[in-house]
Amino acid sequence: MITVTKTFLPPQEEYQAILKESWEAGWITNRGPLVKKLEAKLMKHLDVPYVLALTNGTIPLQIAIKALGLTGEIITTPFSYVATTSSIVWEGCTPVFVDIHPKYLTIDETKIEAAITSKTSAILATHVYGNPCHIEEIEIIAKKHNLKVIYDAAHCFDINYNGKSIFNYGDISTCSFHATKLFHTGEGGALFTNNSDLQNTLFYHHNFGHKGNEEFFGIGINGKMSEPQAAMGLAVLPYIEDIKAGREKVVNLYNNAFQNSNSLQLLTWRNGTDLNYAYFPIILKDEEILLKVMDLFEAQQIFPRRYFFPSLNTMPYLEYSKMPVAESIAKRVLCLPLYYGMDLVDVQRIIDVIKKVI
Ligand SMILES: *Cc1c(COP(=O)(O)O)cnc(C)c1O
Repeated sequence: MITVTKTFLPPQEEYQAILKESWEAGWITNRGPLVKKLEAKLMKHLDVPYVLALTNGTIPLQIAIKALGLTGEIITTPFSYVATTSSIVWEGCTPVFVDIHPKYLTIDETKIEAAITSKTSAILATHVYGNPCHIEEIEIIAKKHNLKVIYDAAHCFDINYNGKSIFNYGDISTCSFHATKLFHTGEGGALFTNNSDLQNTLFYHHNFGHKGNEEFFGIGINGKMSEPQAAMGLAVLPYIEDIKAGREKVVNLYNNAFQNSNSLQLLTWRNGTDLNYAYFPIILKDEEILLKVMDLFEAQQIFPRRYFFPSLNTMPYLEYSKMPVAESIAKRVLCLPLYYGMDLVDVQRIIDVIKKVI
């Protein structure tokens, strides 16, 4: 069986050697030494001024909305994982969708201003598959209309944009360290900001609002990463260059096979982006062809993923607003199997199946 991704597991004894520290200290959560060590290593590895480790990649979105004091409407993308939209609704705000660019697949910055009203407080956009949004234009719009900017950068571990980590852009960026992501801690995630006041706010929000044991800064939730999660991150991090190199081989084969095809569309990367090889999406001509490809794959026990599907403006808890580009792409996009250590013979089989159908 070939699945869309396969979690990279470090040698078990390396994980256990790190965890041994927790056993010896008798300390497995509440910002123990391993979480602090992981944050320090991530700051250095990513070259960012601040990392706050969290228990998953969804809580950071909710904490970011809370920390910026957002209310009313938040302009967002319909083409993302459901957590981007659900976090907005969960925090009592209203998502206002703006359609996506048909090639970059990120929010279409030329349509943002038309969606701004007196109730708009922020833009929450996703760097889709690690492909950056039009960051410069979004910054101009945000400044002009006094809006905050949050980037859901769940796919962006090790993505640099114009020579620096993409986590440096926007008021706040978030990441997911879920087992299906490029770098992982099993479940996990992080918050990034360059603003020191915001760093303090994010910190107390993620720990019940605590100021010492008995005083409180304000409201909070529990978003703390635990020591076993941090141990996994510390065990995976030394392999990140190998992981990317292994994935790059697969991506090169897919690219060679499909880059000149008239029958499917590949993602157009924004200039200035260093890739991390986290995803390989293909966009087929129509949903019927996609379903045919899926059927043939299933017969061979190959399971790609319809990601992202469905378009988030169609969520049952929202009032529907039409997003023609996102809805069309969501129906036709497939993320092909891609992971470290993937057998290149299997990659060729996958390519052959797709070529047969298209
Ligand atoms: C994975 C993902 C999330 C959620 O992260 P979790 O760690 O699973 O909570 C949010 N947004 C995007 C774009 C994602 O891909």
